[in-house]
Amino acid sequence: MKRLTILPLLIIPLLLCTSWGFFAHRRINQLAIFTLPDGMVSFYKQANKYITDHAVDPDKRRYIDTLEAPRHYLDVEDYEKNIDSIPEKFEAALAKYGQKKLNASGIVPWQIQRTYYSLVKAFKMHDSLKILKYSAELGHYIGDAHVPLHTTVNHNGQLTNQVGLHAFWESRIPELFAGNYNFLVGKAVYLNNPLKAAWKIVKHSHGLLDTVLRFEAELNSSFPSDQKYSFSERNNTVMKQYSSAYAKAYQDKTKGMIEKQMRSAILMTGSFWFSAWVDAGQPELKNLIKTAPTLEDKKQQELENKKYKEGRIIGREF
Ligand SMILES: [Zn+2]
Repeated sequence: MKRLTILPLLIIPLLLCTSWGFFAHRRINQLAIFTLPDGMVSFYKQANKYITDHAVDPDKRRYIDTLEAPRHYLDVEDYEKNIDSIPEKFEAALAKYGQKKLNASGIVPWQIQRTYYSLVKAFKMHDSLKILKYSAELGHYIGDAHVPLHTTVNHNGQLTNQVGLHAFWESRIPELFAGNYNFLVGKAVYLNNPLKAAWKIVKHSHGLLDTVLRFEAELNSSFPSDQKYSFSERNNTVMKQYSSAYAKAYQDKTKGMIEKQMRSAILMTGSFWFSAWVDAGQPELKNLIKTAPTLEDKKQQELENKKYKEGRIIGREF
């Protein structure tokens, strides 16, 4: 007699993506273009495809570079009980914690600052390729800094019996509902102090963490357990993911927190780009030197794509 069995191993979670999911990172970078002022917007519009495609380069780099992962998060509890006790300046943090700890516990606010200065330099050099590269990457790190689960050791809800929460929050929900989000965020503003602005983002995200975790735990206990997940079959494999009803209930309970964080990520990305351009002396973007990628750049990109497809991340996933 033939028996129908579903091997547990074949039920695999569909959401294995990292950091905002590729979908949201691409949307954030793309929509940031529309916050830019006259002197910038046409240059970025022409480069729309690059800015969008390369929004996820830093995540791909995590497959080849051991130093990449910590650039995407800040495990606050690993440093201090209170986020305000962490020194804001990189040198002070380095002196207090040492490089090894920074590499393990995350550096996202300083990575935003570092990428910002790389972008200012690219504008000063009139180097179109580097302007686009650092703009795309800056948008990525700013996006990550808006995710509350990027500010905690409990980054996937694994310490509170909520495994899968990371991708649920930053991939599943935006993929289901971003079509109805309001992305009219207004115009980019000049940021006097990019490092302070980066910290403001991270501190706000960290302040939302309790709600992110608690509301899911509450919903989990009140929602019919047989309706929490949905299953679909693909290539003889049963795929498991959070159901859209559960995602909708969580989104409503958090009063659109994910939409608000995405909106802020868009506005802040545009504002960092704009500020870098101003700090570089507002160079004319019409006649930039068009630098082609070097052979080294191309090789690096090919390797990133290859390793990314092989799918073995180095270091931590989230
Ligand atoms: Zn990331």
